[in-house]
Amino acid sequence: MSDISQKETLISVVLPVYNEEEGLPQTIATLKEFIAHQPESYELIFVDDGSKDNSAEILHQVIEQNQAFKMIQFSRNFGHQIAISAGIRYAKGDAVVVMDADLQDPPEVIPAMIKKWREGYEVVYGERLSREGESEFKKATAHAFYQILKRISSIDIPVDTGDFRLMSKRVVNVLSRMNESDPYVRGMVSWVGFKQCSVEYERAQRTAGTSKYPLSKMLKLATDGITSFSTIPLKISSWLGGTSIVIAFIYLVFALVGGFTSLNFLTFSLFLLAGVMMLTFGMAGTYLSRIFDSTRERPLYVVAQTDGFQVHKTDAISLKQQAHQG
Ligand code: UDP
Ligand code: MG
Repeated sequence: MSDISQKETLISVVLPVYNEEEGLPQTIATLKEFIAHQPESYELIFVDDGSKDNSAEILHQVIEQNQAFKMIQFSRNFGHQIAISAGIRYAKGDAVVVMDADLQDPPEVIPAMIKKWREGYEVVYGERLSREGESEFKKATAHAFYQILKRISSIDIPVDTGDFRLMSKRVVNVLSRMNESDPYVRGMVSWVGFKQCSVEYERAQRTAGTSKYPLSKMLKLATDGITSFSTIPLKISSWLGGTSIVIAFIYLVFALVGGFTSLNFLTFSLFLLAGVMMLTFGMAGTYLSRIFDSTRERPLYVVAQTDGFQVHKTDAISLKQQAHQG
């Protein structure tokens, strides 16, 4: 990446916005000041996720004065993850940074991310050292959630990272082709692969306003994370069923030894029947998970580079997409 002169490098910053009128003026001022002192060019893409306050008007005003500022306005509130997905599709930059519009993710971290990107990393996560001003409840639940997700999901999502991260154009291109309903962006980014690393930072307090993530939205995010990257919940039933059948037969042995009564028979049948039913459910779940995997149309794989072919395809490609193009 060192062959690109710095001034020609364009960095896109994607900022989802939902009812942030209280904090936006400061965010805008901070970002204006920040990009004025950077060696790279910047575009700042605000995604107004159906704000009901003056956020869009505030952004309109700054867009008229400053070319770096851009806005995508949603027709209604679609949610943080979808706002991010839209923003990165519009981004033209050589690298794309996603950050909150409430300045909890400080822009001063971006140069450190760019440095890592120039060293060859395609994804640079912001890893939170502290989470100032967030309730103990939020910290504890977030931590527990990431641990559970790590255990049961098929991919390695780094613990204690949010959506603050830099991604290379290649990664963004792959993400843009992933048309997942209920996207869980941080999982998708891990899934894409390539060289990934993190830079540590202190997560600041919100500059103004309150969190736009009530418990209901947090639960939705957690559910999306688990259901997009793990089919284990669909298979739990199988395990329970199997266990129940084993218990049934162990019980049978003990019952036979101690003299068999009709109550024994009833208990045995109950465990056996429940086990068979749960096992059947679980089998249906296994097929369902396969159908689910294929409806999502995730690429089968992502190629980083090929060697020795006459036509070098260094872009991230997948078998499916090649077939579509051909
Ligand atoms: N946000 C959004 N749509 C929503 C909820 C939040 O675009 O439905 C934005 C919000 O304006 C902020 C970012 O997503 O820029 C993260 O939200 P928030 O700061 O409320 O989450 P927290 O930092 O409390 O987890
Ligand atoms: Mg925030």
